[in-house]
Amino acid sequence: MKAKKTDIRIVDGRFSLIDVRADWFHIDVMDGLFVPNISFGMPVIEAIKRHAKKPMDVHLMIEKPERYIETFKKIGADNITVHFEACTHLHRTIQQIKDLGCLAGVVLNPSTPVSVLEEILPYCEMVLLMSVNPGYGGQKFIESTYQKVRKLRKMIDDQNLSTLIEIDGGVNNETAIKLVEAGADVLVAGNYVFSAEDPIEKIKGLKSL
Ligand code: ZN
Repeated sequence: MKAKKTDIRIVDGRFSLIDVRADWFHIDVMDGLFVPNISFGMPVIEAIKRHAKKPMDVHLMIEKPERYIETFKKIGADNITVHFEACTHLHRTIQQIKDLGCLAGVVLNPSTPVSVLEEILPYCEMVLLMSVNPGYGGQKFIESTYQKVRKLRKMIDDQNLSTLIEIDGGVNNETAIKLVEAGADVLVAGNYVFSAEDPIEKIKGLKSL
């Protein structure tokens, strides 16, 4: 599946939860261990789920995420992605996510090559590539991400898979165009949207690329 402009889903996670134009709500869960920052816990996520009428895309930036997969499903996760770097038994964890009826994905830090996905790729509905180091918003986009997306696109196409490529970090109107050209399917926009005076306009702009 080749990425088309119409396939792009712009994802965010704040205000206007009811009528926001993003297609998924992307939630970064941080444990203060896998990443230095701590974000928010279950009650906040449950509250978001109650108000947001969109699928909830939960990105677990936590050590040993297998401990909490069931809980996140219970509080409303539709997609769950776990870091390659945080899982000892990745295949089992991906299977656990799928068994619960969620879309499953693997996340790679900027320094982790896509070649590590060779065995797990056929089991994943999505791969999330970090285009900044995880843990904080507002960081500068890492340029080598484009090449990484192209490599991953080729791996997916060569195996005739429909795995989605999702990009997280430093997405703005300039990086978004190049990411789509490189083969990305889903873009996570955080700071670019939320620091804007008119966030809805920014989302509209990204979706019209
Ligand atoms: Zn994320």
